Amino acid sequence: MKNCKQAIISILCIFFCAMFWITLYHLTIRSRQVDMLKQKVNVLQEQLVPEIITPEQVKISEEIHNPTVEFDVIVKKMRVSAYCPCRLCCGNYSDGVTSTGKSAYTKGVAVDPTVIPYGTIINIPGYGEVIADDCGGAIKGNRLDVRFTSHQAALNWGVKNLEVRIYIQPKAVWEDKGL
Ligand SMILES: [Zn+2]
Repeated sequence: MKNCKQAIISILCIFFCAMFWITLYHLTIRSRQVDMLKQKVNVLQEQLVPEIITPEQVKISEEIHNPTVEFDVIVKKMRVSAYCPCRLCCGNYSDGVTSTGKSAYTKGVAVDPTVIPYGTIINIPGYGEVIADDCGGAIKGNRLDVRFTSHQAALNWGVKNLEVRIYIQPKAVWEDKGL
């Protein structure tokens, strides 16, 4: 009788152990499949969301190439990182709006506004001509943070030390614009 009980307990033990490992195995495979799906969705989103260029951006390009005002151009070596409007990048400020009240789902660059005033046009190699329209907690002094519409694109940029061209407008223009 005792042997019989032990045998039953052993069988039950083996059965539950087997069930446990089978479940664990399935869960691992499942989470891997979910990861792969997520990656696929990310790639698709990447292809679907092109960098949005606003009419303002087009105007910037025209203004630099056919200037109606003369710009002072400063060439400066700056540390250029990248961000997107997501929570990982912007934390509590991930409301989709820049500090100058523009949509964060467009091309743009965050600056230290005490160094480079908002509205300044900057030419960043590999990113293009862009207007300073945002700021960031870590963006102080000689730093810029270019904006992408997806997190992966921002990661792909990484951090670069680049010679950027800063187009300084005459003071009169700043005053006109109230900047
Ligand atoms: Zn992000």
